[in-house]
Amino acid sequence: MLHPDRILAEEDGKAYAAVNRDIPELMRSSSGGVFSIIARHLLSDGGIVYGSAFDKNMQLIHTAIEDKDKLHLLQGSKYLQSLNDGIFKEIRTHLRTGRKVYYTGTGCQVAALKLYLRKDYDNLFTSDILCHGTPPQNVFNFTLKSLENRYKGQVVDYKFRDKKVWGWSCSSSCSIKSGNRIRYIGYDKSMDAYFNAFIDAVNYRESCYKCPYAQSRRSGDITLADFWGVEKYIPVPNKRNGVSAILVNTPKGQKLLQEIVNSMDLYDADIKDISVINRTLTGPTTRPPERDYFFTDFEKNPGKTMDAYTRQDLKRHMVYLLKRNPLTNALINRIKSLT
Ligand SMILES: Cc1cc2nc3c(=O)[nH]c(=O)nc-3n(C[C@H](O)[C@H](O)[C@H](O)COP(=O)(O)OP(=O)(O)OC[C@H]3O[C@@H](n4cnc5c(N)ncnc54)[C@H](O)[C@@H]3O)c2cc1C
Ligand code: SF4
Repeated sequence: MLHPDRILAEEDGKAYAAVNRDIPELMRSSSGGVFSIIARHLLSDGGIVYGSAFDKNMQLIHTAIEDKDKLHLLQGSKYLQSLNDGIFKEIRTHLRTGRKVYYTGTGCQVAALKLYLRKDYDNLFTSDILCHGTPPQNVFNFTLKSLENRYKGQVVDYKFRDKKVWGWSCSSSCSIKSGNRIRYIGYDKSMDAYFNAFIDAVNYRESCYKCPYAQSRRSGDITLADFWGVEKYIPVPNKRNGVSAILVNTPKGQKLLQEIVNSMDLYDADIKDISVINRTLTGPTTRPPERDYFFTDFEKNPGKTMDAYTRQDLKRHMVYLLKRNPLTNALINRIKSLT
């Protein structure tokens, strides 16, 4: 395992809450959209952005984006491991030509890139995503198969955190293509089961339970996270669109933040408040006893294993159906226009 002291910032980062300004593109982001703001800024300057995207077979891989119109592929948290095969060499080539590179990934991925490069480059900017663990792709593949069998089509898009129905929340959705038709699914028991198993931490890779990057000294120039519970500490407006917690860990990160500060509303924050829910700022996720048998059970009977994490929420399902109904929506909009 990599030794964190070779990579991590010297001190805890300076903490902020960042609220996005109702910009529609940022609604595709999971939290306050700081990733997109930084990425757009560096793309405008001729840079290249690396982050995690699904390929056409819904396999998660780190991908390079050079065009703002494709940035949506990287937006949004994907709760599984993203492969980085072969890209570090490509990144080094860009850096050597003087091009600005923005690399985003989990703490261990940012650290791995820095170890590969062996030296600091002024034109490399990094963000580590605050992370409590990643399940392997095969667990997610089973969820995709279940959805495809149930809805008789192919999953062409999957959002782990879709703000469309519930705003800033942990509600998943997917789009399924059958023939020429694309159907949007905003509630399904297999999507819920995947999310619950992830939150219960039963299916992370073994190394995540001993993660050396789960601490307040971080591997990226700027750490990106959700600021859950922000209203207890800072009176932010517009919470529904998502609020990011950011830690600025290096002078390079501080300079970058100054360059983008006009694109969002920033508030001073205390890292202790961010850590109340984000326990991985103080140590790795506890390995639950179920982790001992999750993968052996999953190999024998994936359906039964995942079903154990289904907690059907009838109320949520009903509200979702009502909100998706055009008549109810029209009625809600009419009432809003009168008040
Ligand atoms: C596996 C995982 C666990 C997380 N755990 C926490 C947590 O415990 N607490 C917390 O506050 N926040 C956590 N986050 C981070 C949070 O969900 C948001 O991704 C983060 O706040 C950035 O949001 P944003 O609105 O700025 O950008 P978004 O537009 O949502 O950008 C997402 C960024 O994350 C990157 N990314 C997405 N999925 C992956 C992946 N699987 N591997 C590597 N990079 C990825 C993308 O490349 C992009 O840079 C986690 C994210 C992931 C992927
Ligand atoms: S928990 Fe640690 S080891 Fe696991 S993916 Fe996140 S940063 Fe990497």
